[in-house]
Amino acid sequence: MPESMLERVRKLRAQREAQSSSKPNRENIQVVTVSKSKPEGMTLDEALKVFGHTSFREGQREAISETMTGEKGVLCVLPTGAGKSLVYQLPSIMSDKLTIVVSPLISLMKDQVDKLQSLGINAILINSSLSMRDAKLALAEVFSGGVRALYVSPERFDNPEFNRTIEKMDVDIFAVDEAHCISRWGHDFRPAYAELGGVIERINPRQVVALTATATDRVKDDICRSLHIEGAVRFIQSVYRPNLQLAAVEAYGRDRYEYVAVVVADFKTGLVYTATRKEAEEVSQYLCKRGIPAMFYHAGLTQTERSKTQTAWSQNGGIIVATSAFGMGIDRPDVRFVIHVGLSPSIEDWYQAIGRAGRDGKDSICLSVFDFDNDYRTQVFLIDMTNPSGKDVEGFWSWLKRTAIKEANGNPVANIKMTQKVMGNLSGFKNVGACISFLKQRGLVKTLGRGSYEVRLDRDDTFDVTQIDGSRAERLRKLNDLTSFYREGECRFLRVCAYFGDASLSSPCGKCDCCTS
Ligand SMILES: [Zn+2]
Repeated sequence: MPESMLERVRKLRAQREAQSSSKPNRENIQVVTVSKSKPEGMTLDEALKVFGHTSFREGQREAISETMTGEKGVLCVLPTGAGKSLVYQLPSIMSDKLTIVVSPLISLMKDQVDKLQSLGINAILINSSLSMRDAKLALAEVFSGGVRALYVSPERFDNPEFNRTIEKMDVDIFAVDEAHCISRWGHDFRPAYAELGGVIERINPRQVVALTATATDRVKDDICRSLHIEGAVRFIQSVYRPNLQLAAVEAYGRDRYEYVAVVVADFKTGLVYTATRKEAEEVSQYLCKRGIPAMFYHAGLTQTERSKTQTAWSQNGGIIVATSAFGMGIDRPDVRFVIHVGLSPSIEDWYQAIGRAGRDGKDSICLSVFDFDNDYRTQVFLIDMTNPSGKDVEGFWSWLKRTAIKEANGNPVANIKMTQKVMGNLSGFKNVGACISFLKQRGLVKTLGRGSYEVRLDRDDTFDVTQIDGSRAERLRKLNDLTSFYREGECRFLRVCAYFGDASLSSPCGKCDCCTS
């Protein structure tokens, strides 16, 4: 029986205290026309077999039945890996009408469409990188009535031709995946998601299904209000996972890596998450030097390198040290640990990551090792880079507008050819990328590619500074929720449940570091 994770962590902590260690300061359209009509008289259980399953998971049958027969909306909050997508996929093959699936990520859509096609189900995706001709062909295929499931990004509904076609169709189910992106109070707000309520009104589907892995009560209400499904039937699975052992420990600098080494030594497969690319590489090197083979993964690697690592891990397991870029399509059931080195942006992000541990139901470890001062600063820096203050957006826009007016020669539109780095140097703003993405949302700037931007001088450019600052403050609040969660001594699962408004766990878990100290 190997020493438990907590014993090892405590031993190391005691050792460190004894040493009185000082704190150093394009994708192609994929159209496969097969099984155009539904198999007559198929039962739910027979349809389930099409997907290769023999039994429903907890709550799945009920959610699927409501999706197939109801009209008031369905909200599913189910952990990743609990079979969320089947809630709309299965009804889609039982109906001869169209199911539209809104999904935020191309890779996520592609995974699902590939899988459906391999099962002989006619599913297609239309995404932003399609040529105009290919998009028209795909849309014609949808209009012919042969497509069961159409996967699109929320931004697709900005396209008038797409809307005209879809509005003529008889849409059975409108499914919104990763529905937490609708809410400003969620951890991944995406403006195009906030427009989906209007889209649903125009399309008028029989049933609307919203799905997410994590949502606080506020976010759940926000999703239902925004999609006009206030009377939705809710299927909420408890966030409590009895096989997960939660723990958090403060350590400093590279000493954090030593905690990782002592915990992972006896396990074959697991994930270590870091806040930065540099740290992902450092931790993996540290482990390798200690004789523990570990691969690293982050968005700075080439597509080929990333696919190679992901495939190797999916097939053979092992230890991966990664940034949050590693997450999509992770379906290994035997992940024995998820360790966070440093801080996550929020409890939601952290919970989503630890949800990858122990899907086989066996005991698994979820440890966070953080250096409060430095790791907190890193997160605030990341917020600065992605959520500019209202003052920054106003200041940068005023510089960009002046620059554009000089180029425009009295025209309402100017083209500026300049990299973001040069813009940063000339304007004096460090978070140019984030400012530009805000201006893009407002229709003031368009990316033309190869470092060229179109700047509109004829549009309303008054900003609601309070709203920009509000979203920044919200991210800081979420970060603070996470740090106080790490630092407080109460049962960790009771606190996680309280955070997500889940009343199903009434007594301490008896397993976390707080319960057993
Ligand atoms: Zn506990």
